[in-house]
Amino acid sequence: MATAAAAGSATKQYITVRCTNCKKWNRIDAAKADKGPKCGNCGTAIALDHPILLDDESFDRVVNGTDIPVMVDFYADWCGPCKMMAPAVEQLAREYLGKALVTKLDTDASAQTAGRFQIRGIPTTIVFRHGKEAKRQTGAVPLAALKQLLA
Ligand SMILES: [Zn+2]
Repeated sequence: MATAAAAGSATKQYITVRCTNCKKWNRIDAAKADKGPKCGNCGTAIALDHPILLDDESFDRVVNGTDIPVMVDFYADWCGPCKMMAPAVEQLAREYLGKALVTKLDTDASAQTAGRFQIRGIPTTIVFRHGKEAKRQTGAVPLAALKQLLA
């Protein structure tokens, strides 16, 4: 088993997400993330080029079931700095399509997960690699700093 980063190797990397329509779980080949993936059950488009909304129920399965890095933007609707950072998070999802899974979690709606990761200030951005926290940034940061977290 090679542990070195092997871009373009034959080893498939999967993204695990839930369909926003029928809630069925889908495993998507990360190399085909830009090919307009659709839910295997209902055919609804799975838009990986936008941040995927996680919640207490889906968080573990997405983070543990995704082979590429998963970035989670812990935010809340009332948070001004979160709104300021949102366009950068959107842009990151487009630019890193298939290379990283960009997600967001509403810390009010999913307080259990926010508590587990001891989110004290928002926005907080955490990058998970193979289910484990790799990097964390608290406070709104520009796109370049978000990219740095994935570097
Ligand atoms: Zn579906």
